[in-house]
Amino acid sequence: MGEDNRRLWAEWVAREIGGDEGRQRTALDAALQSLQTGGTVSEASNAARAAVGATPAPPPATYFQTGGTRCRFCGSVPAVPMTIYEHNGYLILMTFKNLKGPFCRDCGLNVWRRMTDATLLRGWLGMFSFFIAPVTALINVVNLSKLTSLPAPDPNSSVRPPADPGQGLFRRPGVYVYVGVIAIVLVYFVLVLSR
Ligand SMILES: [Zn+2]
Repeated sequence: MGEDNRRLWAEWVAREIGGDEGRQRTALDAALQSLQTGGTVSEASNAARAAVGATPAPPPATYFQTGGTRCRFCGSVPAVPMTIYEHNGYLILMTFKNLKGPFCRDCGLNVWRRMTDATLLRGWLGMFSFFIAPVTALINVVNLSKLTSLPAPDPNSSVRPPADPGQGLFRRPGVYVYVGVIAIVLVYFVLVLSR
């Protein structure tokens, strides 16, 4: 998703380049433009630095350039190719989102927790969404082991630090909201049937 990418790059610029808002925006635009024209993560970070006259990053270690699947956000290895899904219901309308990897463990967990929580939090809100949201969440749960079975990202391979995985799913509101909704629906049907 463009938005997620932009946010992560903005965080990277703030941390690695810093300076005032104008400087950070120039660097961010340069990085995003490089990515849009097919640049790699390391080309984008160099473009960002060059745009504001910051010193270029030290050249990556040689093994870094010799293939292997790298995280789309931070460039770390190991990374796994996978897709994370989100479903949002808006009564009549609904939106399907997905974000394709490859992800390292930390960036992947960051995205997985955010998108799965969003699906549980407001995915069910709609006639079709009520059935689509749990399937979406279930697909994410099934795919979670791809991330959790990865070792921590190798710090020597990162172009920028991996994202913070953040709070676990059970420390976010989505699960509890969803359980509440299911409970209300069950109680409703029990009341209707008992009449
Ligand atoms: Zn990463």
